[in-house]
Formats: sequence, structure tokens, C-alpha cells
Amino acid sequence: MDIPSTMQAMVLERPGTPLRDLRLTVPEPGPDQVLLRVRACAVCRTDLHVVDGELNNPKLPLIPGHQIVGTIVRLGAGVTAFQEGDRVGVPWLGSTCGSCDFCRKGQENLCEKALFTGYTVDGGYAEYSVADRRYCFKLPAGDQDLATAPLLCAGLIGYRSYRMIGDRSQRVGIYGFGAAAHIVTQIAVYEGKQVFAFTSPGDLDAQKFARRLGAVWAGDSTTQPPQALDAAIIFAPVGSLVPAALRSVVKGGIVVCGGIHMSDIPTFPYSLLWGERVLRSVANLTRADGEELLALAPKVPVRTEVQVFPLSAANEALHCLRAGRLQGAAVLQIPDASLPAAAMAAGRRAQ
Ligand SMILES: [Zn+2]
Ligand SMILES: [Zn+2]
Repeated sequence: MDIPSTMQAMVLERPGTPLRDLRLTVPEPGPDQVLLRVRACAVCRTDLHVVDGELNNPKLPLIPGHQIVGTIVRLGAGVTAFQEGDRVGVPWLGSTCGSCDFCRKGQENLCEKALFTGYTVDGGYAEYSVADRRYCFKLPAGDQDLATAPLLCAGLIGYRSYRMIGDRSQRVGIYGFGAAAHIVTQIAVYEGKQVFAFTSPGDLDAQKFARRLGAVWAGDSTTQPPQALDAAIIFAPVGSLVPAALRSVVKGGIVVCGGIHMSDIPTFPYSLLWGERVLRSVANLTRADGEELLALAPKVPVRTEVQVFPLSAANEALHCLRAGRLQGAAVLQIPDASLPAAAMAAGRRAQ
């Protein structure tokens, strides 16, 4: 395989500053690593938290991006499970230690020494990326790169959050109707649940989008749903939604916070939690979550809605996410250099 010595990469040098479009040396895969030619990398709210300096101690300089779909072009020493040409997905969980108490209890998502793609190790806002093969998901050949990329975090963290509400929850509220919500809604509807979508006040486009995906009700996050809910998932990074969600669930109801970062939660009366209501967060993912979701998604089938940006427009994609101007997920598309760049326009919609 002909691999150039340098690559285009969008690089964070200092939190709070835009990514820089640089040429870097193509990395070499170490033992148990694979080198990928990145085809698509979806943009996650967590990328925004990293770029804006809301998450501590990122690797710097850093190539963000943790929803990578790529093709393996080189194998590191000892890699036998994959071959060159295999199509894989790389998620947020980059590697774990395998020996801490959490890893041994099957809670690798909570590993004390975990590395995270596009945060503590370089990610996929680049033409090439290395990944630990043990944390890569094998993807079917020929599947759609752009449509698959958002499953790798929006889908995965969304799915883990959704599983935490339990099978008995029928009426499910979702606060914040972005990339994760649009995937979870499709799965919940497929499983016969009723979805109630809460958006930023007045965001009628997002409410329409939610109804189109099967939500039985969509409204402002400041309002109460027409019926009490069995559970709620909060994807928006807004702490005041926690008491709002607790207020909207029945006794025994479960409220799950699916984001990595949230503004402070205001104080609220104990009566909102009383009645065996449960409030919990979801952190990261396990490989088992990924395998489950990637097996389930084609059965639903989950159809991700993506807005496509070229790699060099990563800052613009992040800005659209920050401004709430996306429906579904933003995805950076990284075609072969031989393809005419003019064929791609920033913000083009694709299925
Ligand atoms: Zn560990
Ligand atoms: Zn993410």
C-alpha cells in the first residue's frame, strides 16, 4: 500500500483557539496498533468541550475526533486479528489497562488508566490515524462511511444511556435533540417505546425533526410533557435540566445524564428525588456496548442524518454544533487525494 510520508491534520494547539490545518508526519503503528486511512470522522459535542477547554488535560498538540471510520493500511507488530484493507470503526475508548479494579469487574469504561481517542491520544481529524486494534470495531465492507461514523459515539453513548433506563420504561423523555438523540429515538421506537423530545425553547426545527423520527411529542425543555414519563435521558450539557427531568418522571423513574460535561446542577428539593427516583450518569463505553449497538443498528435500521464537511472545515463544523445549527450529526469526510476537492461542499447534506 502506497502511504505518503505526510498528511493533512486539523490540530488543537491550545484550548480556546481554532484548530490549525497542518501537515504532519504520518504516524507509525506500534505493537498491537493499526494505521488507518481515515474515511470519515463524525464530530461530537465532546470534541467541542475539548477544543473549548472544558475538559482537563488533553494531549497537546492534539488531533481531535473519536468517531472514526477508516481502512487499515498498515499493521503494527503482533496484529493478526486484522488485515490490510479491513474496514474498522474507532470509538472514544482508545485503550484500557486490563488490570485495575474496574477492568477486572468488567467496567472497562471506568478504567483508571484508560486512553481516549481524540483527547488523550490523537484522533481522526486527519487523513491517517493509529489505533489500538483491540478497541477497533470490525465493520462490514462497503457499508457507508458517512452514515456509520456517528454511531461510534453519538450512537454508542446514546445506546449505553438508553440501556440504563431499563426495559420496563415505556415513556421515555430525551432532553437535547442532537446526534445521540436522533439515533436513540429510532432504537426506542423500534423497541415499541414512546419518545418525548425536549429541545431548546423555541427550536421548532428540532421538534419537527424529532416528530419525523417517531417521537410522539416534542416541545420546549421548559415545559412539562403531557404525560408523566417512566425515564428520561439528558444529552444537553445543561444542569438545570436535571431537576426538570426529575419533575417529569413517575415514582421509581430513572434519569440518565449521558454527557461528559454539564453546567452545575441547581439545588432542588429532595421531594423531586423521593419516591425511589434514580439519577445517574453514563461514562464512556465498553467494547460490549459497541458490539451490541453495531449488531442492532442494521435491524432497526438506524438511519443517521449527517451534514458533511471537508476535513479543512472542521472549525466550521464545530461552530455549527456550538451554535445548535445541525440536524443530526456533522461528519468530516476525507476522500482520497485523487478525488477532486471541488466535489465536496461544506455543509452538504447526505443520507
Ligand atoms: Zn483498567
Ligand atoms: Zn463523543
